[in-house]
Amino acid sequence: MPYQWPAHTDFTRRELDVLDRTCPVCGRGMYICDHRYRHLHTLEGPLELVCKLNHCPDPDCPGHAKTKSPETEAAIAPPHWAIGWDVFCWIGHRRFARHWAIPQIQAELRDTYRIPLSDDAISQYTHRYQTILAARQQDPEALRRQYESVPELILTIDGLQPEKGHETLYVVRELTQKRVWFAEALISATAAEVQRLIAKAKEWAELLGRPVALWISDKQDAFVTGIAAEFPGVPHRYCDNHFLRDVAKPVLEADSHAKVQMRRKVRGLRKIEQAVLKHQRAAVEDRPAAIAAEATVTVTVEPAGAEAPPADSACAVVLDYSAAVRGIVNDDQGGPLHPPGLRMAEALDEVRDSIQRNLDEKKGGSQRSNWAAWPTVSTAAWTMSEPNKRRSGSMSRRSRRSLRP
Ligand SMILES: [Zn+2]
Repeated sequence: MPYQWPAHTDFTRRELDVLDRTCPVCGRGMYICDHRYRHLHTLEGPLELVCKLNHCPDPDCPGHAKTKSPETEAAIAPPHWAIGWDVFCWIGHRRFARHWAIPQIQAELRDTYRIPLSDDAISQYTHRYQTILAARQQDPEALRRQYESVPELILTIDGLQPEKGHETLYVVRELTQKRVWFAEALISATAAEVQRLIAKAKEWAELLGRPVALWISDKQDAFVTGIAAEFPGVPHRYCDNHFLRDVAKPVLEADSHAKVQMRRKVRGLRKIEQAVLKHQRAAVEDRPAAIAAEATVTVTVEPAGAEAPPADSACAVVLDYSAAVRGIVNDDQGGPLHPPGLRMAEALDEVRDSIQRNLDEKKGGSQRSNWAAWPTVSTAAWTMSEPNKRRSGSMSRRSRRSLRP
């Protein structure tokens, strides 16, 4: 499906010539017989390629009937593509290294680079990217070069489930070079199927002529039997991540329980926020009509602005605290070494300390507001970035303190 370029597109023009003009059949000098015009999207803008096509001057030479294209054309874009390699690599990198969704890629291409690609075009390019990448990853010559100076191999196998409910993807990796060797989705991971993958890894190792010093896995039964069968005598160890996770199971259970307790205690954010917003609206309506219009603009456009009246900055502080606390109680990240509940307790402590500092500041004299509706919140120009920055700084000190659920 040819892409329709809008009229008056401002193309950068680039002429490409054939570098080696000797006829491949008879050796005569070839000459230009035709031009091919191509229009491409590149990250630098629309590009017009003018490809000078050559052929042999001798009508009796088989080289006469065929034209030769400029050698450099393929380095800019593969045949028939509407995008250059640069856009292609950009799409592949965003999709697979950054895990962007297709609509996000599409929007960014349109907004930043003015490249309007349809979603099915992008999804087709991502498939091609995968194919090219897989071919490159499994190129035996490239692999041999990479392993030239590696004395022995350390292999791992693990099953991943990229999407819940889908088949498990079994991945074989080599650790000294930190590279994925191959991956296969197995619908039924029987011992025989798994052993086939391990046998494939053995073939690869033999092809490279390197001994396998060690296998690492989570030691599920199929891995244990398969590796023992294909690699007799090669040690097979637990992956320390799986090992740690198994050992830490009771800790994570206790941590999860503590999270539930904390969430039960820290609630009512919505009510506080609604009250603040209601108060803000009321404050605006109460002001004299002459400045009301201006104040509405101030309140809606920059509620946390430094020039805002004291009541508004107090409201903004409350809303900021609410947002921070909501972020804290919804944070579920972290493994056994950084249990999420522990982090949640530390962060909530920080918020409490921060509020206390504000209260102390207020008591200490410089009372900047006489607005009594929110007695627990200072109107001093605190922002949440202060306690947030401190949180990471004081992590090591605080993480020593244990959490007792
Ligand atoms: Zn010829």
